[in-house]
Amino acid sequence: MRYDFFFKRIFPMRCPACDSDRTIKNGFNALNKQNYRCKQCGRQFILMPDKEPISDETKDRIDRLLCERMSLARIARVAGVSESWLQRDVNKKYAEVPRAVHVKKNIVDRSSWNAMTCGLL
Ligand SMILES: [Zn+2]
Repeated sequence: MRYDFFFKRIFPMRCPACDSDRTIKNGFNALNKQNYRCKQCGRQFILMPDKEPISDETKDRIDRLLCERMSLARIARVAGVSESWLQRDVNKKYAEVPRAVHVKKNIVDRSSWNAMTCGLL
């Protein structure tokens, strides 16, 4: 419950039409994406459709969540991005970091990621 509260604060489900945060979950669409409905104006929307590029703001939020030692699956779900995209993004970031940390596989190990990105090294 504590985490849910935390997530709601960084990912408020705001209506794209009227910017109200009085939104409720409204089932799933054909692509199995969470659908929302605005109680203010009745607009239905999906939080972050896959077709739209992922905003820098979302990426910043993801960076912060990565520091919270959460699983990629959970971060992907909360941030509204696909897990495969998130894994690619993390791998890409890892490739940009000087090789101060040695990781055997090309999939980032999470404790190394935390050390690199959260200033613990
Ligand atoms: Zn609205």
